[in-house]
Amino acid sequence: MTTDHLAPHVTARRTFLAESSVALLIRDIRAAGHPAPDIVIDVMDPDPQFRLGKVAVEGTHIQSVDAQGVLAEAADGVQTYLAYPGWTVWPTCPAHGLGVHPSSTAAGVAEWVCSAGHVVRPICPDLS
Ligand SMILES: [Zn+2]
Repeated sequence: MTTDHLAPHVTARRTFLAESSVALLIRDIRAAGHPAPDIVIDVMDPDPQFRLGKVAVEGTHIQSVDAQGVLAEAADGVQTYLAYPGWTVWPTCPAHGLGVHPSSTAAGVAEWVCSAGHVVRPICPDLS
């Protein structure tokens, strides 16, 4: 397959996974008692710089094509949005009250990691 043939498939998959991930993240944000943020997902056609097209969640470029990888990247974009002045730190570590950041394990599972250096929980335990 050439890049031209591959691009629409990659873009469609990244868009689907980004939308699914953002929906899961918003569910968690609401469950934590915050109002649902208005997250923007940009989908751009291929160009000379991004020959497979480009999908971005609040400016964070989605580069993975697997569900957990996209979830970690989308979580980063959602956190960036939430961190704008006047907004909130989400999520926080229940043990330390510190902010957490998305990370992926060697096995490819997206997790929230506390700023103190330990894993808090999988970002979405029920996502396979
Ligand atoms: Zn902690």
